[in-house]
Amino acid sequence: MGKTGYFSHQDCWLHEMGPGHPECPGRLDAIEDRLLVTGVADALERCEAPQASLADIELAHNRLHIAAMRGLTDWLREEVEAGGPPYTQVDPDTSMNLHTWNAALRAAGAAMAATDAVLAGELENAFCAVRPPGHHATRDKAMGFCFFNNVAVAAKYALQRHNLNRVAVVDFDVHHGNGTEDILAGDERALMVSFFQHPFYPYSGDQAPAANMVNVPVAAYTRGMDIRDIVEMMWIPRLEAFKPELIFISAGFDAHREDDMGQLGLTEQDYTWITQRIKDVARKHCQGRIVSCLEGGYVMGPLARSVEAHVRVLADI
Ligand SMILES: [Zn+2]
Repeated sequence: MGKTGYFSHQDCWLHEMGPGHPECPGRLDAIEDRLLVTGVADALERCEAPQASLADIELAHNRLHIAAMRGLTDWLREEVEAGGPPYTQVDPDTSMNLHTWNAALRAAGAAMAATDAVLAGELENAFCAVRPPGHHATRDKAMGFCFFNNVAVAAKYALQRHNLNRVAVVDFDVHHGNGTEDILAGDERALMVSFFQHPFYPYSGDQAPAANMVNVPVAAYTRGMDIRDIVEMMWIPRLEAFKPELIFISAGFDAHREDDMGQLGLTEQDYTWITQRIKDVARKHCQGRIVSCLEGGYVMGPLARSVEAHVRVLADI
């Protein structure tokens, strides 16, 4: 049994998007409190997330997008120094503060450092407790609380820098991972499997744009048992046939029954079951190698309990 890494960084707490915003630093506090109080944290290898290099971010994003994010940060710094407000809006529900840039580099850096450690055999798998999340960030724009696509950057990094031939991305967030799809669709070295509430934000994904995308739109109020059937019948056979060398998870927990950001009916038990099925595939094909990155999950209790359930399976406890 290998070790499970837990990657995070203090910078991920400093990014915030204004009072009352659901994608808030308290999410990480809720997760850490839960892992500490349950003793799960004791079983994890705590790792400091490094900053991603811009050259690595460019594996998944175009230079104009990266320059725009950096430019907005510089502009905001001048505005704040001149007495302006501490935030600047990048889309109707996404804004930056002076710490967003560093947090986004740490979040992507966590995913890549976890990839390095898992591929080196130092860890069997890893969970990255990071924010901002990533799966809505497309090649050329920030949206839906996301700036850089942590999982897509790390997937490209595994392919380009580690010369892997096959990486899988599993996305169980309630929202369609449109950004990851934008970046990975048509790249036959990657396979992405997901389910997501539909029709729902970001109103995409009902038509898979390429053969390497397994998109399963589901209606509001779909329950966990039906989701398990989807995983068993539509994800697992594709993952088994693909024989991934590394599996990434876009681990959003906003499909939880008690999370009112979405209207799906998953519970902690469902996250345990899904994680176990992914782990079965990973153990069979790639020595258990999994890099999981936090995406959504906005109600503190169910978020914290679901992350605990997920990490318990990763760490075999
Ligand atoms: Zn989400």
